[in-house]
Amino acid sequence: MRGSNGNGDADYHQREELDEDFPLGDGTADLDASVECPYCGAAVEIALDPGSGSSQDYVEDCEVCCQPWQVVVRYDDEGHAEVSVTPLVE
Ligand SMILES: [Zn+2]
Repeated sequence: MRGSNGNGDADYHQREELDEDFPLGDGTADLDASVECPYCGAAVEIALDPGSGSSQDYVEDCEVCCQPWQVVVRYDDEGHAEVSVTPLVE
């Protein structure tokens, strides 16, 4: 099941709201994060895209069990990403 790109509109929207103070250009922003799948419990490394803004949420499928996650990413001022993954609620 490959539905992860079905809700891509939010990404384009948030790109326009990029905070100018967000430290993207100096290479300090996290580019990946380790999360635990809320369905199967697997530890999964996911890629992050700092260029999409300091506050992001999107849907991504678990690469182990293919269940859809609601992924929420928040970057702090130093480019550290806080990532939470919850079951997708429709
Ligand atoms: Zn899983």
